[in-house]
Amino acid sequence: MIVAILGTILLHENVDHETGEVTRIGNLPFIFGAILIGTIVGYIAAMRVKMTAMPQMVSMFNGMGGACAALIAMVEMNTHHPQEFGHRFIIFLSLMIGTVSFAGSMVAFGKLEGKIKDYGSKVQQITNNTIVFAILGLIIGVSLIPAWGDFFIWIVFAASLIYGILFVLPIGGADMPVVISLLNSFTGIAAALGGFLYDNQVMLTGGILVGSAGTILTVLMCKAMNRSLWNVISGAFSATGPSSKSMEGMSISEISVTDTAIMCAYAQRIVIVPGYGLAVAQAQHTCHEFEKALEAKGVEVNFAIHPVAGRMPGHMNVLLAEADVPYEKLKEMDEINPQLPNTDVVIVIGANDVVNPAAETDPSSPIYGMPIIKANTAKNIIVMKRSMAKGYAGIENELFYDKKTRMLFGDAKVTLEKLIAELRNV
Ligand code: NDP
Repeated sequence: MIVAILGTILLHENVDHETGEVTRIGNLPFIFGAILIGTIVGYIAAMRVKMTAMPQMVSMFNGMGGACAALIAMVEMNTHHPQEFGHRFIIFLSLMIGTVSFAGSMVAFGKLEGKIKDYGSKVQQITNNTIVFAILGLIIGVSLIPAWGDFFIWIVFAASLIYGILFVLPIGGADMPVVISLLNSFTGIAAALGGFLYDNQVMLTGGILVGSAGTILTVLMCKAMNRSLWNVISGAFSATGPSSKSMEGMSISEISVTDTAIMCAYAQRIVIVPGYGLAVAQAQHTCHEFEKALEAKGVEVNFAIHPVAGRMPGHMNVLLAEADVPYEKLKEMDEINPQLPNTDVVIVIGANDVVNPAAETDPSSPIYGMPIIKANTAKNIIVMKRSMAKGYAGIENELFYDKKTRMLFGDAKVTLEKLIAELRNV
């Protein structure tokens, strides 16, 4: 990227076709000054960010990429006033996609920070669809008829800004990962369009890489979440309000560290379900130690990985790979679910939404339809978390009240350390 940036700034030549005069890029102090400021801000932000706040940062950076693409489109339109359809169409499309990505990413950032609440209504889907088609119609119109003037660039900008906000605002609970990945691919596409505009192969290649990788990831996430891409784009997954299920009158059973260690030591098969809490507690290494301690007792241990566990796509894979957990022990949902009824103990560590049976049983739940790790089908379930607090989707979890479930309260890392010590005594 450094070579691409320096090459573009220092080697690019502008040849005047009439006079043959060659000019190079000017304003170098401004360009390098801006690069310096951006580098310092980016470096400090990336060094300081906590692992658990990575998704927010990714959203913020992604939004900046979208904003860049939108700004390039505006500058291009206002300086060169292109007249041909193709040129104008690419500029307006790049403006639209870049702006949607910027506005959407900012709302996603606010949501992941817990500062913006889900807001959706039944008319939202119709409104969103209307706005998308109106913007696309307008883009085709202004691209065909240059006489409509460059003024329309502001209308497309404003409408895209509104659409970007409205499209992410209702997306609730468990659907955020799909949106984040979709916004990421939007930024890539907008950058690729910029590459077309400037006939810049590096920008085009970079944009296509991000756009296609993001699109493939989005499609895979949609599949994993049992959602259709169009429904995500049109905001059909508005949070329908908290699940109507109340756990009043139901009771939970707790278990001690010692009893857990005994239960685990005498089990034949154990499946660990890691979630966001494991990342918060930074307990991945301790978790691997725990796995090894169990294996030393002759227990077969596997990990059940849900595609949206944690706060970023592949979060659990990255976390456990960091702790050197062998990759073949990480089992995807489709593979592990059929094995769970024959599993003696499922240990849920800091996971909540991804094991919530409401996704299968409660149509009023915001996570209804999302495939889950069916921890409830195992012979025994141990849930390690600090309290009865809810997960990201903000809903109750019936699994904690299941007759087969025992709650082991405490910070995941501290509890795992105690469990490892206890296992040695069993
Ligand atoms: P959840 O957010 O559902 O639950 C995490 C649980 O971890 C909480 O209930 C919390 O309970 C517990 N916890 C927090 N800190 C600790 C700690 N130190 N020790 C032990 N437990 C702790 O996590 P899941 O992984 O099950 O689900 C992920 C959710 O995040 C899904 O809804 C998903 O859609 C969403 N999401 C995922 C993204 C992705 O790309 N993967 C991006 C954005 C959202 P307590 O406070 O009681 O300890």
